[in-house]
Parts: sequence; structure tokens; C-alpha cells
Amino acid sequence: MNPSTPPVAFLAPGHTSKADPSDVRRNNRALIFGLLFPATELSRAQIGRRTGLSRVAVSDVVGSMLDEGLIREGGLAHNPGKGKRGTLLGIDTQRLHIVSIDLSQSRFIQGAVTDLLGTILYRSELALGAEDTIAIDDIEQLAAQLMDHTDHVIGIGVAAPGVIVDGTVRRSTALGWHDVDLRTPLEQRFAVPVSVDNDSTSGMLAERFFGQGGPNLMFVWFRRGIGTSVLIDDVPVVGENHAGGEIGHISIDPEGPPCPCGKRGCLERLISSQVLEARMRDHPESRQTILEQAGVHLANALAMPAGMLDITDICVYGPPDIVNSDFINAAQRYLDQTTASSFHAQTRIRRCEIGSDIAIRGESTAVLRDYLAR
Ligand SMILES: [Zn+2]
Repeated sequence: MNPSTPPVAFLAPGHTSKADPSDVRRNNRALIFGLLFPATELSRAQIGRRTGLSRVAVSDVVGSMLDEGLIREGGLAHNPGKGKRGTLLGIDTQRLHIVSIDLSQSRFIQGAVTDLLGTILYRSELALGAEDTIAIDDIEQLAAQLMDHTDHVIGIGVAAPGVIVDGTVRRSTALGWHDVDLRTPLEQRFAVPVSVDNDSTSGMLAERFFGQGGPNLMFVWFRRGIGTSVLIDDVPVVGENHAGGEIGHISIDPEGPPCPCGKRGCLERLISSQVLEARMRDHPESRQTILEQAGVHLANALAMPAGMLDITDICVYGPPDIVNSDFINAAQRYLDQTTASSFHAQTRIRRCEIGSDIAIRGESTAVLRDYLAR
């Protein structure tokens, strides 16, 4: 078993083992699923030892998870010299599917049918018109195509840039949306539960479960604008107004260039992909300096929250010609200079190596978390 995968990863925050039997059952199901996800195989006896659940309780919950299609039986456990060997259980990648849609890109929206491990089984995309705007009809059309390719969907997930509350995109500068309810029309049309999540949070979940991230992680995404997300003890931090991580319009240089939001020197105005690409086009000879400065700006913005939360892993996802070694090394030097101390471990900043399916894979995990919490 991967020691960085704690068994609580699929428990919804705030869940306690109160007396209500359906809560206990749901928590035990999430607990066992989290032990096996993504690629661990354990026998019933091993699950019992790791969870502290009784043999009867494990057998009961495992039985219903097998019926449900969440897990499957595989080979036999190695148990040298201890008599009967138990059948191994693992995540079932055959029976249940997830439809996952990514609105984070410019010029097109993409979606896929995945299995429970976020592996893409079928994909489709829809080109956006000249205005590059997304309508709900576009999303429904793509979802309909994807739903035609599977019969056993546990939910539809949409990853979108912006502030998202209960299935509604409250505010998205990138999409130009205010209060757009995505959940209701999609649930009405397709009759399955719909999850809507901030795309940067989806990306962070992909890095957590399919990349190198541990349970404490700061994630930065260069896309239309800049998104960040924070994971603490495997719980994404959403914040008081669900705007946690929206740092693109925090000014880090009051003397900096004016921003359309009315302030000067906003992080997004200094280091978004669009700004950096334009500057490198105008000054190709200063490419390295421009990217090093951008790395310093990002490290400057993140040094304080990283120190405050004692997070030692910052993962940056973005175009390889921007988030390159010049960028990362400059950011790392700045972090070392500003945060080194005897009581903090070194905060490491690194490039995210998950490819362009990151939002789709992460959003499928978000759907799974919601499904297990129900
Ligand atoms: Zn601004």
C-alpha cells in the first residue's frame, strides 16, 4: 500500500461516526474504498486490521460494495504459513463509469467517459465559436454524446474556472459568467447527480491521486487566468465564500501595470500565460529573464501562505514553455531565500507532470467523492 494514501481520503469533511446506522455504513464504505483507491489490493482480513472494523462489519460492507460495482474480487493474498489465504479486493474498473467535462481550456470544451480510476474510456470535444464563449447548450450537447457511450454512470462532473457554490458558477472572469446554474439543467436532462467544481481543485485532486501529491499540497494552474487550490489533510480548502485560491487579482506590486479590475500589479496581470506570452513575443531576447521574474512573482505570492500553513509541496501546472526550468528554479531560489528557517522544512516548488487530461481525471475523482458521501 502507498503509505501516502491515508484511508480517510474519501470521507467527506465534517462526517462523524454518530449513532445513525446509515452514516456509519456510508463512512465505512468510504473508508474501505479509500484504502483500496487507486491501486491497492487487500483481503477482508487485512481491511479489518487496517480499519479496526469487525469481521462481520467488513464482510457486510464489502458485500454490498461488490454488488454495487465499486470493488471486485481478484487473486489470493500472500499469507505464508498462516493457513487459509484470503481473496484480494480491489477497485472495480469495469462496471461503473463517470462522465467528466472540462471547461478550463480556450477554444474548445472537452469531455470523457472514465472508469472509477479516471482512466479515459471514450473522449469527445466541442469546438467553440469565434467568440470563444460557452453556452449551457454546448455542455448539454457534449454530455449527451458522452452519455450515449455508457449505461452505468454514477454522476456527471464539470470542472470550471471560477467561484462555484452548490453546482452554480457564481463568478467566472474566464467564462464571463455570473450565477450560472449548471447542476439543475444537467440533472433534469440526464437524471444522474451532477458535481461542479473549480477546475484548479479538480487538477489538484488529479495530482493527489494520480500524480506525486501528498495529503498537504498547494496547487497552481496557469489556464485562462491563474487558479490555485490548497489541500490540507486531504480536504480541499474552499473558504468562507467558496473563493479560496482565487488569488489572481491580489496585487503583489502596487506600482505594477494597471489591471482591468481597477488595481495595479495583480498577480494575473504580471504572470498569466497570456501576459507572459505577449511579453516574450515582444522581447524574444529576454525570454529567460521574463520567466525568471515570473517565477519570483509567484514564489513571492506563495511564500507566506505556504509558511503559514506549513505546506512543503507546491505543484505548478501550465504550458511547458512557461512553467519551465528557468521559471521553477527562480521560484525555488526565492522560496529558499525567504522561507529558510530551522523550524520549517524546505518548501519545494515543482512542475506538475500530469498531461492535458488533468481536469477530466481530477473531476472524475470529485464525482466519486460526492458519490461516496451520498
Ligand atoms: Zn486585477
